[in-house]
Amino acid sequence: MKRVYNFSAGPSMLPLSVLEKCAEEMVCYGESGMSVMEMSHRSPVYEEIIAGTEALLREVMNIPENYKVLFMQGGASTQFSAVPLNLMTGSGKADYVVSGQFSKKAFQEAKKYGDVVCVASSEDKNNSYIPVFKKEDIRPDADYVHVCFNNTIYGTKYYYIPDTGDIPLVADMSSCILSEPVDVTKFGMIYAGAQKNMAPAGLTVVIIREDLLGKERDITPVMLNYKIIADNASMYNTPPCYPIYVCKLVLEWIKDMGGLEVMKEKNVKKAKVLYDYLDSQDYYIAPVEKQSRSMMNVTFVTGDADLDKKFAKEADALGFKNIKGHRSVGGMRASIYNAMPYEGVADLVEFMKKFAKENPKG
Ligand SMILES: *Cc1c(COP(=O)(O)O)cnc(C)c1O
Repeated sequence: MKRVYNFSAGPSMLPLSVLEKCAEEMVCYGESGMSVMEMSHRSPVYEEIIAGTEALLREVMNIPENYKVLFMQGGASTQFSAVPLNLMTGSGKADYVVSGQFSKKAFQEAKKYGDVVCVASSEDKNNSYIPVFKKEDIRPDADYVHVCFNNTIYGTKYYYIPDTGDIPLVADMSSCILSEPVDVTKFGMIYAGAQKNMAPAGLTVVIIREDLLGKERDITPVMLNYKIIADNASMYNTPPCYPIYVCKLVLEWIKDMGGLEVMKEKNVKKAKVLYDYLDSQDYYIAPVEKQSRSMMNVTFVTGDADLDKKFAKEADALGFKNIKGHRSVGGMRASIYNAMPYEGVADLVEFMKKFAKENPKG
């Protein structure tokens, strides 16, 4: 069967060459005589894989020496608890920006552990923009400020890095990590569930400044304790071995292409075809404010729930899969992560034009 264009928000497309390499090495990895899935995580051959993955991530993202890279499990959602358990331990206060569903979940989870307030929100307009906040809006004794850098469901992203002064900025980058260069030094911590842009589900990557380690509460579960994971080089217990290996292949793919600057150019070009088309017509409506538009998740609606349904159904039959929007926005969402080729987006736009012509609104 032919491969489809998979617009899923996550788990999502992986580069075809990566999948092919996985297939090639599936049964026998190198000279090991076994699959990566079967090997001891303590074996020299696996040690090389995990160390190589970290080294590549550091190189591709330009992660400074004073940051640790942790390979964890439990998805980004587990970090919603891990972050306060590790970091909300000075004043016991943390400030959150609520700009979508995941940041709201992070905010609600953190409230269990201390004095947590929402300093900015975009809920007044169904999260169709990134709320702006200033340093003065943050409590001066907050232990950290939490933001979600790309809102997967609503299709918004930050185009600037909020200035939080000396207060560590913690960012959920699950759906935008590796899509463009970011200045890691502006963050205290970055985390991401891998299944959008890095690897299959099962791996969660944490990038954390060293001085933030060792501040955890006494009750912090061992498996959520950043210091313990860091001190054990992500091998306190069995790490998610296979997703880490796939992550390494994805990083090699990005590096071979020229790194994150090139990745960004490709992503900008891809998103532009779709947004340019959306701006050129009035059949489809793009609900997100222009200055907050995500490069990774593009949302649009026809304004008619029946037409939206018909669109998703016809698109699916033509091989544009998983284009139905999240129920909180309705309509459609095209998730166009790194692995989505330009042709996938260009073909989608052609289909959108055809659909609009064939289905005039009443
Ligand atoms: C998908 C996603 C999550 C949830 O990730 P899990 O790994 O399923 O817990 C959290 N935040 C963002 C921004 C996401 O895109």
